[in-house]
Amino acid sequence: MELKFLGAARSVTGSCHSLRVGAQHVLLDCGQIQGSRFDEELNRVPLPVGHVDAVVLSHAHIDHSGRLPLLHKQGFTGPIFTHRATAELCAIMLRDAAYLHEKDAEWENKKRRRKGLAAVAPLYNRDDVRAVLGQFVSLDYDERREIAPGVEITLRNAGHILGAAIVELDLRENGGAFRLVFSGDLGYDAAPLMQPPTPIERADLVVMESTYGNRNHRRFAATLDELRSIFVSGADGGGNILIPAFAVGRTQDLLYLLSKHYDDFRLDRWQVYLDSPMAIEATQLYWRNSDLQRARLFGDRDKLIVTASESTEDSMRINAIESGALVIAGSGMCSGGRILHHLKHNLWRPECHVVMIGFQAEGTLGRRLVDGADHVRLWGETIKVAAKIHTVGGLSAHADQVGLMAWYGEFANRPPVCLVHGEPGAQHALAAALRSAHEADVRIPGRGDVVDLLSVRSS
Ligand SMILES: [Zn+2]
Repeated sequence: MELKFLGAARSVTGSCHSLRVGAQHVLLDCGQIQGSRFDEELNRVPLPVGHVDAVVLSHAHIDHSGRLPLLHKQGFTGPIFTHRATAELCAIMLRDAAYLHEKDAEWENKKRRRKGLAAVAPLYNRDDVRAVLGQFVSLDYDERREIAPGVEITLRNAGHILGAAIVELDLRENGGAFRLVFSGDLGYDAAPLMQPPTPIERADLVVMESTYGNRNHRRFAATLDELRSIFVSGADGGGNILIPAFAVGRTQDLLYLLSKHYDDFRLDRWQVYLDSPMAIEATQLYWRNSDLQRARLFGDRDKLIVTASESTEDSMRINAIESGALVIAGSGMCSGGRILHHLKHNLWRPECHVVMIGFQAEGTLGRRLVDGADHVRLWGETIKVAAKIHTVGGLSAHADQVGLMAWYGEFANRPPVCLVHGEPGAQHALAAALRSAHEADVRIPGRGDVVDLLSVRSS
């Protein structure tokens, strides 16, 4: 029995781990590498996996699911076991990712044609996604299933986003048994909508995410205070509010808060627009699956009215509104999507507000705004930044250090841990905390490292 770390090893994207039990080969996640153009080119390199019998997918985020269509193109036609809501979310998210890859290739090929170069193919297209979606096998939380001889899995609610799962794997080989627990991405226990991550009592080895291994989130009450003051003073000032948001997770958390705090936030003075077809589809999915959440997304007598703008024309109509529009649109880091049009129409107006509720990566337009840029360029035009830019923390889908430590602390037998899905700084901080609080045996595997499972337990 061995586990090999193929991705999200000392980094946060491209989650993929290869598990061999007897003659069986199972992949845990098959995520896309995200980051700079150079990093993303690595997705074109075939996965070094050979024959794969089955895949277990922890959740729908592209950095966990995004290379599944490529695996299919490499010849994998076996089952992909995942939670039923993750299967539904993947249909939305992988289709959108494929569409963006097709657009990217189209754009690139226009330039290549002018240079007399051969055309490039998109990383994958919507046909590849359709084909791989046919391989999904839906499971419920807490349902035990044998997915290959000697490999039984049970998915537990991880919080994080809809359908996200912690994967318990009960493995058997030559009479030996081993229990591996793969955390996937763990939710934040103060998150408004998702459940806290399910505690697990026993494991022989834990493979655990460490995204915020060196950070603690601020108190949730402070986040609410900050949102209230922006909405109240924004209405007095007579402009619009733009909120760039990720379509899945962050948008639904925000809508839930707007609904719950409608009176407190004085939202009667705002017309709320959800301007993203993907976010609209994802919100409907969250609504249909409210049994998986700790709260219903909207109440029965909800005062909040959200105008869903599906078409480009609907979206452009919002641009004519001078005041009173609260627009939630993607992308979350302003690196594309409909938010760009709204920025063009509002960024130069001092009475308008831009509210950043998510992490803004280096090199994105969102980051430049957060860093206080005076001017930005949009479609070759220089736009003055006169609107107020706010950064509101605390709306995270990930557990912080306290949350990660608490989740590990529920394992009665203090199993050894391999930390994945984190930058080295976060991983070393979490490793130190786990060692000092629990005397845990913590490893930080690099890409390509292999762990012999039976030797881990006996050591
Ligand atoms: Zn995730």
